[in-house]
Amino acid sequence: MSDYLMNTYARMPVAFERGEGAWLWDDTGKKYLDAISGLGVCALGHAHPAVAKTICEQANTLIHTANLARVPWQETLAEKVCRVAKMDKAFICNSGAEAIECALKICRIAARERGIDHPEVVVMEDSFHGRTLAALSATGSRKVQAGFEPLVGGFIRVPFGDAEAVAKLAASHPNIVAVLLEPIQGESGVRVPPDGYLADIRATCDANNWLMVCDEIQSGLCRTGNWYAYQHEDIHPDIITSAKALANGVPIGACMARGWASEAFTPGRHGSTFGGNPLACHTACTVLDQMTELDLPGKAARTGSAMLASFREKLADNEAIVDIRGRGLMIGIEADRPLNHIKDQALERGLLINVTHDNVVRLLPPLIIDDEQAETIVSVVSELLNAL
Ligand SMILES: *Cc1c(COP(=O)(O)O)cnc(C)c1O
Repeated sequence: MSDYLMNTYARMPVAFERGEGAWLWDDTGKKYLDAISGLGVCALGHAHPAVAKTICEQANTLIHTANLARVPWQETLAEKVCRVAKMDKAFICNSGAEAIECALKICRIAARERGIDHPEVVVMEDSFHGRTLAALSATGSRKVQAGFEPLVGGFIRVPFGDAEAVAKLAASHPNIVAVLLEPIQGESGVRVPPDGYLADIRATCDANNWLMVCDEIQSGLCRTGNWYAYQHEDIHPDIITSAKALANGVPIGACMARGWASEAFTPGRHGSTFGGNPLACHTACTVLDQMTELDLPGKAARTGSAMLASFREKLADNEAIVDIRGRGLMIGIEADRPLNHIKDQALERGLLINVTHDNVVRLLPPLIIDDEQAETIVSVVSELLNAL
């Protein structure tokens, strides 16, 4: 505990000193298997040689020049990330919340184009979009919002997974310009919507000339067994936000758009001092190249299905378990009771896991984990849950 840090996190009683692949070592030399990868950030694992090499080379060459000049690595990254996301253009920023802010600003520009002065964006219950004021206002969690009123206005909230609830708004809400959702909700407990949900939302957006915005900050970049989770359904969003795994731990975010939305900004309407600097962008280029080379979408899909199957087998007789769900290596196990103590028990056994929404074990292991490491995660978590 530090006297000098603001009190924003209830931290686990451990400090990590170094890592390699899916392993971490704490300051006493104890070794841990990492099943959260810094909240879905270190998809390539820790101390990845190609990533480390890029960071060193770029730091020795040029870290930052500001967006007053062209930034070739930013241009290279924009093309690479737009190709895998199937988008036309990107704005590169420094975090997930910043990518959300950018997406919401595009929605407001779209409103002005359509002569709407008080635009509304449809958002979901139990969603999470970040901690800046607009992002927390879009977030569907009272815990995140409480005490920070007045919130940013212009959001209408409906239950997640209910496409009909979104469609119904059209008749009574002429000021709606966009729908913002996570294809799989992360923070609220790895909630996977019903099949066809994204396609139904897309159809409603098409019918009403609304923008469809997918927050893929957690679900994107191979995590769910596809480059982006929206690609599991045959749809195409207008805007995507991406961040977490994009530079394997170097802070970065991207808001991507296609068609009209990708042309919304003109010089001076948006910007960022650090956003798109050569260090973060070159690192992200290396990360995307590695993800392609290692076929991480395929690997996440295979390892994830094996883990889900193994969990279902090992927890079959456990009456405290309500649901085992997920896609690829984004896995949630929901219990009928609080599970917060489980993460300390796992830590004791040399495994790093996360509990979200109080009663859901959330696993976001590095996408490079091997089969043995995956099975170790399943065994330890199942033993702890079977001892509830
Ligand atoms: C983590 C996350 C964010 C916020 O990202 P930051 O980089 O912490 O600002 C937004 N949306 C989703 C879905 C996330 O998982």
